[in-house]
Amino acid sequence: MGAQYVYDFSDGGELGRELLGGKGVGLAEMTAIGLPVPAGFTVTTEACREYMRLGGTPPDGLDEEIAAAVTRLEERTGKRFGDHADPLLVSVRSGAAVSMPGMMDTILNLGLNDEAVEGLARATGNERFAFDAYRRLVQMFGEVVGGVEGRRFEHELGALKAERGVTEDVELEAADLRELVSRFKDLHPEFPQDAREQLERAVRAVFDSWETPRAQVYRRANAIPDDLGTAVNVVQMVFGNKGESSGTGVAFTRDPSTGEPGLWGEFLTNAQGEDVVAGIRTPEPIAAMQERLPEAFDQLTATMSRLEENYREMQDIEFTVEEGTLYLLQTRTGKRTAAAALRIAVDMVSEGLLTQEQAVARVDPRQLDQLLHPMIDPRADYDVVARGLNASPGAATGKIVLDADRAQEQESAGQAVVLVRTETTPDDIHGIIEARGVLTAHGGMTSHAAVVARGMGKPCVSGCEALTIDLTARRIRLGQHELAEGDVLTIDGGTGEVIVGEVALVPPSIDESFETLLGWADQIRRLRVRANADTPEDAAKAREFGAEGIGLCRTEHMFMAEERLPLVRAMILSSSEDERRGELERLLPFQQADFEGIFTAMAGLPVTIRLLDPPLHEFLPPLEEAESEEMARRIRALREANPMLGTRGCRLGLLYPEIYEMQVRAIVRAALAVAERTGEAPLVEIMHPLVGFAEELRRLRRLTLDTASAELEQASRQLDYHVGTMIELPRACLRADEIAAEADFFSFGTNDLTQTTLGFSRDDAEGKFLTHYLEDRILETNPFETLDVSGVGDLMRIAVERARGVAPEIKLGICGEHGGDAPSVAFCHELGLDYVSCSPYRVPLARLAAAQAVLAERGVTAAQVGG
Ligand code: PEP
Ligand code: MG
Repeated sequence: MGAQYVYDFSDGGELGRELLGGKGVGLAEMTAIGLPVPAGFTVTTEACREYMRLGGTPPDGLDEEIAAAVTRLEERTGKRFGDHADPLLVSVRSGAAVSMPGMMDTILNLGLNDEAVEGLARATGNERFAFDAYRRLVQMFGEVVGGVEGRRFEHELGALKAERGVTEDVELEAADLRELVSRFKDLHPEFPQDAREQLERAVRAVFDSWETPRAQVYRRANAIPDDLGTAVNVVQMVFGNKGESSGTGVAFTRDPSTGEPGLWGEFLTNAQGEDVVAGIRTPEPIAAMQERLPEAFDQLTATMSRLEENYREMQDIEFTVEEGTLYLLQTRTGKRTAAAALRIAVDMVSEGLLTQEQAVARVDPRQLDQLLHPMIDPRADYDVVARGLNASPGAATGKIVLDADRAQEQESAGQAVVLVRTETTPDDIHGIIEARGVLTAHGGMTSHAAVVARGMGKPCVSGCEALTIDLTARRIRLGQHELAEGDVLTIDGGTGEVIVGEVALVPPSIDESFETLLGWADQIRRLRVRANADTPEDAAKAREFGAEGIGLCRTEHMFMAEERLPLVRAMILSSSEDERRGELERLLPFQQADFEGIFTAMAGLPVTIRLLDPPLHEFLPPLEEAESEEMARRIRALREANPMLGTRGCRLGLLYPEIYEMQVRAIVRAALAVAERTGEAPLVEIMHPLVGFAEELRRLRRLTLDTASAELEQASRQLDYHVGTMIELPRACLRADEIAAEADFFSFGTNDLTQTTLGFSRDDAEGKFLTHYLEDRILETNPFETLDVSGVGDLMRIAVERARGVAPEIKLGICGEHGGDAPSVAFCHELGLDYVSCSPYRVPLARLAAAQAVLAERGVTAAQVGG
């Protein structure tokens, strides 16, 4: 016997989400714990994968298994599929193993046809209801299976409402809907009358929807593998559109924006299925349900508690009330903002639902970044021109763009944009990913735009009723204001405010749950976390976020300031060493002051200062600005065709030792000054960049020690400091043993190490061929974001082994961008590095990721905790 492809909900959820999909497993589990779930069955993801493998043909036996499952459903419900008197109706819903909200298709009311609809009208005594259900089926089937554009149906609906002089769908009467069905069928004349044919074709269409462009884009953005396939759930229909005692809604067990305990959600009376999520009618807050349908509301509240106890996780459910009776149609782990994620994890520990370790494992480190998003400066003065729903927190300023393609285009060209739409559909996903924020006229807190934006940590204001868009003129109205595409707009997704023009934004602050959870993470992690910071302000910010030192202070950034640039230029353009030494003397006090500021901010913690590592041309004036023939000659002489591989890093120090000497003097003087002033000497680490040969470091180490000794001798003082190097070249990894003999520490500069290992230019890869590589899946992830573990990572492993082989005590860290990327942090943990260093805003992320790396070794992972 071949594989079994179909399982009833009552078979239980043990087969797991890989096979049953998230929705299928939830329905089966809810059935098992006795919650009110309609009867139905799941066609497995395996069937979908086979279907795709066979090039769009159902595998042997599938249709027979579905037919048998329908028969069982008929027995259970006492109704017959396609019956002309009182037909069994079903919905067909996609459900992949990983939630992909709104990405794939659903069809409701399958089983209706021209005769069954009359039977349904008689059986329910409600002709309007029957034809409402039928017109929805014809439309959804036409769109999903027949490929008829949705807007053609919407157009007919709009036209009919206009003819009848009504504005709301619910104002249409039975006869109107009967008419609408006939017009809809004209749009899709092939609509099959045979119920079983409807079902077979619908199941195939859901399989096919796995491959739609929007689903592919979503998977790429969320790193979901392409070969999982989707399951299909066939569920007995229950009806939320049977009048005022019926309705449908979406609810969360806790507030997904703040994490506050208590039921949160939205509800629409006399409505069906997708009305809430599609944002077609703006729903009411769930509290309204308490008044209208008190019994169903109490039942819902009790059910939600059962669900949380069962899953130990915040749940997001879809439900329908049919004439006062509650049915659950779906449960899944609720998407939430980072703030809510932290609060829920911490609250669940005090509620006894989770251990501290489980709570730490539960929070996605990448989400923390969201919390650290800018907000509108509370002191800023601005006029709010419109308000919408505060769908996803964070503030964004950018130029208005009216479609997703343009949003993507302009962001790639370096423009900040806010995507402004009447409502977003899953087809807008690429624009949402790129834009700084999203503003929509329609849709509630659970609309597609809101859910997707929240998941991505993107500011979003939805349901902004004052907004109208004229796509032809490419203009918008916001209350009293008329604006054109390209004008600047600010939105605040935390408050729902919309503002014309730019507003000052401030970095956010951190709340109690954040501190608590990260405190637990700190107790678990082994890796130390430092920050990359070049100014006293950044250093202070880094400490606030929990940095335990500075892993990289890029001194060339200190030379970029406006008042210093002329001095630096003069230094670089000096035609003799004497002249250069003169200019360096003038620069020294600036450097010393910077270092003092940083040492003070870090109060005794280690500070790694990297000596100058600039492509020189970045400091040179353009040739046209040369003030003399001599200056033009120097500019020409210093210009390089490939400056990233030119006179950079230690090569500069070896060519012009006086530059590094000045920097070492400034460091030592600053350290002594701070030690004297605060009584606490900083832990100074002097780092040489871009070393490839042990001989380079040997010479520079000598220069460093000699210069420092001279300073200390002159001051008659002592100072503990270390000399080390960055590891940024493949050769350095391979000869790490020789280099380690000259170094107290290594810091992997994985930005350059990635560039030089892959032969991908840091400046030219992204936005050029790398984009193509990622789109075409030649590479799964951007190697400048997430460490190329098998290539660059292998070189790092070699370097660690060889270095520790000769110098077991050598301190090892990483300071490339990867130090703030969760999977890369996990790799650094596994390699046995001592610390990671990343930008201040990513320090919390790194702390959490480092703790999770330890928990993974202990077998505590988010997946294992549930969710
Ligand atoms: C690196 O190369 O990884 C690094 C941290 O140095 P920079 O980015 O300044 O080249
Ligand atoms: Mg570098």
